[in-house]
Amino acid sequence: MKNKTIAIHKGTLRDSKTGGVNTPIYTSSAYDYLKEEETFYPRYFNTPNQDAVAKKIAALEHAETGLVFSSGMGAMSTSILAFAGAGDHLVMLDALYGGTHHFATEWFPHFNIDCTFTKTTADDVIKGVTPKTKIIVIESPTNPLLAVVDIKKIADFAKEKKITTIIDNTFASPVNQTPLDFGIDIVVHSGTKYLGGHSDLCCGMVACSHEKMDRIINLARVLGPSLDPRICYLLERSMKTLCLRVNEQTKNAMEVARFLELHPDIAGVYYPGLEGFEGHEIAKRQMTGFGGMLSFEIKDKDPNRFVEELKIISPAVSLGGVESTITSPSVTSHAKMSAGERLRIGVTDSLLRLSIGLEDADDLKQDLDNALKKVTHSS
Ligand SMILES: *Cc1c(COP(=O)(O)O)cnc(C)c1O
Repeated sequence: MKNKTIAIHKGTLRDSKTGGVNTPIYTSSAYDYLKEEETFYPRYFNTPNQDAVAKKIAALEHAETGLVFSSGMGAMSTSILAFAGAGDHLVMLDALYGGTHHFATEWFPHFNIDCTFTKTTADDVIKGVTPKTKIIVIESPTNPLLAVVDIKKIADFAKEKKITTIIDNTFASPVNQTPLDFGIDIVVHSGTKYLGGHSDLCCGMVACSHEKMDRIINLARVLGPSLDPRICYLLERSMKTLCLRVNEQTKNAMEVARFLELHPDIAGVYYPGLEGFEGHEIAKRQMTGFGGMLSFEIKDKDPNRFVEELKIISPAVSLGGVESTITSPSVTSHAKMSAGERLRIGVTDSLLRLSIGLEDADDLKQDLDNALKKVTHSS
């Protein structure tokens, strides 16, 4: 089956009582232990609505199995702790999602886990590895500068050294990138973003081999970040249109990126789909589309005033929704960093991150252009 068919049919359970085409919502938290071989329980991550979405993500990510969590961080922290313990060392990108970065810096010392943060090139990642390295955690493209990480090169190296690899695939979504095909062991998603896709639910997902999942689910069942069946149903409904949404968002993003690239008020555009972009060649090898996320810097203007002038694109953290949203990383995701540290990693005060939605691309371009003009005229 191809992605669009998988998204709709895989895992979805027809209602056996009525023949209805959607998975019924199984609300029970108490199940008959005599009747079935397996005891169902929401915190065991095995009820029918959890299973339906888990099967979808597994198929979309070309994995043997999948799991749904109550948040992306639940999925990430559980996956890391399933394979790292006292005395172990991890290599992580310093550009990882803020929550993952925070988990490492604040909580790894508590577990006596050591960690090296590296830049995003495969060589930098490989240089960070020590004989004690158990896990490499990467993300591609990264937030907010859309750096493209050479997935295969890192996976090949890690396989040889028997190091477990985890990738946060949230930005690309399985529509544009399937990292297991390049040898990565575990794919993690914040399903709050593209998988949910309508900015109205919070969840996480993991896809990997049965062998890796045995450890992850074992830990998940005691840590307990399980997703409510009602939200699983909303997620399942959204996942059915994942391909349509992400393909359209990818097309829109390319158009907006090209528009911004030529705009006289724009100093630079970060988008893996642009030919001149640093990560473009690697992106072409490992992505089937360049995604709906892009960042840009505006020239000599107050970025916050510019954002205030936008009429369609709304200021909001989070991403991947049907509506276009914009954030200023220096005052949101990277606000806790010192100004000097932000500059070092390239997050300037004039940098803005756009999550492209499903509006008409012409309207989005017009909105950006109008706002840019307004700020020039009044400053
Ligand atoms: C949002 C996000 C997360 C965390 O997901 P939650 O669902 O908020 O817990 C992790 N990684 C990336 C890339 C994200 O954008």
